[in-house]
Amino acid sequence: MTLASRRPLVAGNWKMHTTLEEALALASTVAGRCRTVTEVEVALAPPFPWLVPLAERLEGSGIALGAQNCSQFERGAFTGEVAAFMLTPFCRYVIVGHSERRALFGEDDAVVAAKLIRVVEHGMTAILCVGERLEEREAGRTLEVIERQLSRACQDLPAHRLGQLVVAYEPVWAIGTGRPATPQDAQEVAAFVRTWLGRRFDEGASRALRILYGGSVTAGNAGTFFAERDIDGALVGGASLDAEQFCGIVEAARVAVTRRTKEA
Ligand code: PEP
Repeated sequence: MTLASRRPLVAGNWKMHTTLEEALALASTVAGRCRTVTEVEVALAPPFPWLVPLAERLEGSGIALGAQNCSQFERGAFTGEVAAFMLTPFCRYVIVGHSERRALFGEDDAVVAAKLIRVVEHGMTAILCVGERLEEREAGRTLEVIERQLSRACQDLPAHRLGQLVVAYEPVWAIGTGRPATPQDAQEVAAFVRTWLGRRFDEGASRALRILYGGSVTAGNAGTFFAERDIDGALVGGASLDAEQFCGIVEAARVAVTRRTKEA
């Protein structure tokens, strides 16, 4: 199965940015510009409080919503947390294991694994972020780190839930730095992820799974990543706050998938 048969996903992670007015305006612009793009799935992950107004604004647009995080707990006395079941009415996706959560909020692999289960059990798809730090890449430990993160995050995932998983390869040193990985390095990791999941779970399901690249993706460089055979879209931070840039990335995914379909 190639990019031609996997529908690419371009997801925008707005992080802790946007006022309500900015969020509504950005979502409306993206929805307007992506109106005719059926070949690519587009998702927006705004801050929690904007999920409900954005769900209303985007109704019928085909644009999916994602949450940037959720609690590892099912429900209860967890002040300030948002449970997965509370997101189900609004979200198709939940990002888990983002490097900012791991580095700034102390989320370890066990917490990421628990969040992953909450997300899929509540009917959503988890966008699981994995990625090495610069010193790990320089020490030649990239694939070892990716394997550890994958195996721990997926430790409790039943095989029949693999269809509710998207993996985003996000090298930590490439996030928000303007210094993306090379498409070849990103492809090497994406291929490793697909093979690893195929062995651990099921080859057919792993071939159908979407693997995204994230880390300083722009409209200018997105096409070089989407030309790689195991990269099925992007998780976009900074550039997702700029409609022109974000829609340019969506367009690059559309061009890539159209080309693959013709070649297939
Ligand atoms: C991210 O935070 O997931 C990300 C990829 O950020 P950026 O696109 O800004 O590098």
